[in-house]
Amino acid sequence: MSNRIFLSFPHLGGHEMHWIEEAFKESWVVPLGPNVDHFEHQLEEYLGCGNVVALSAGTAALHIGLVMLGVDAGDEVICQSFTFSASANPVKYQGASPVFVDSEADTWNMSPEALEEAITERKRVTGKLPKAIVVVHLYGMPAKMNEILAIADRYGIPVLEDAAEALGSEYCGRKCGTLGRYGALSFNGNKIITTSGGGALICPTAEAAERAKFLVTQAREAMPYYYHKEIGYNYRLSNVSAGIGCGQMEVLPERVARRRQIHKLYVECFKDVPEVRVHGNPTADFDSNFWLTTILFDPQLGFTPEDLRQHLASLNIESRWLWRPMNMQPVFADAPFYGDGTAERLFNSGLCLPSGSILTDDEVVTVAEAVKAFVKLRR
Ligand SMILES: *Cc1c(COP(=O)(O)O)cnc(C)c1O
Repeated sequence: MSNRIFLSFPHLGGHEMHWIEEAFKESWVVPLGPNVDHFEHQLEEYLGCGNVVALSAGTAALHIGLVMLGVDAGDEVICQSFTFSASANPVKYQGASPVFVDSEADTWNMSPEALEEAITERKRVTGKLPKAIVVVHLYGMPAKMNEILAIADRYGIPVLEDAAEALGSEYCGRKCGTLGRYGALSFNGNKIITTSGGGALICPTAEAAERAKFLVTQAREAMPYYYHKEIGYNYRLSNVSAGIGCGQMEVLPERVARRRQIHKLYVECFKDVPEVRVHGNPTADFDSNFWLTTILFDPQLGFTPEDLRQHLASLNIESRWLWRPMNMQPVFADAPFYGDGTAERLFNSGLCLPSGSILTDDEVVTVAEAVKAFVKLRR
């Protein structure tokens, strides 16, 4: 295990233990408590917005985001097809139906053209508009939010940003997660910072944040006995996990800077290899955190992502296929899909390279050299 190069390994090194010990000292080994409050304030300060609610997972944040938007049984929700299943599963938790929209080639995120086509077509077929739009900033790359929000506003449909991979990314100088009506973050072990497991919902107002907090703590009414008028959820982040988050927030700017440095180093390593393209910011409006550095290779070379993945694995290097689009998943086989196959083409000719902030420059160069050697053999 020692010399294996991992895709995105947790990177501690702030004062996580200090905050966890605080929790133990005061017996705050419970959901809620001072670490949760502190972690939320740190996130608010970093994002430059208020109203962050810390939760037990990014998936929980996406679910509560949909609940807050009033998504219910019989509704349709538009969701980016090129993503992890956790972007779409909560639509089903609500008894609603996902409608998948393809990506465009610049950002690999939701195509504004396909989005508009999906909205007008669903209105024509079902007689009503989709209830919400879930946009993802995949691998940290911001989606084309100006175009997407303009379309969403024109039809009066709210946007929920899945910023699980994009903490620290900016679009037109604004932090991802704060651009739509609601935003979801993840602090899973492989994300840019971790709480070992956790997430957060970014809400538009203090009232919305209060309501979200009420729903995620079992929707208990303010009564001396347990009294419920609504269905609640047990989705709050624990005070111990939040302690890890407090330590991680102290080093978040460094972690983001390091991921960007690693991306830059990969770009440098591949600059003399025309068959490999490192996915990068399309214009100065986009500033990805480069959670993962991803590459596309020329399919004419005649190898598959699996060939390259296995070759790297044989050298003790962990890499991963790009996300398999949701319209290509058996579980969503019945869902409508709008697009031209862009995400499927990306899926078939790309790979995620090791990108954790814990990697050394030498390790990054080792990975790049291994990819280059493999590609050159196929020329
Ligand atoms: C990680 C991730 C999630 C889910 O977050 P969890 O904290 O693991 O529940 C959702 N969407 C995307 C795009 C992710 O990468």
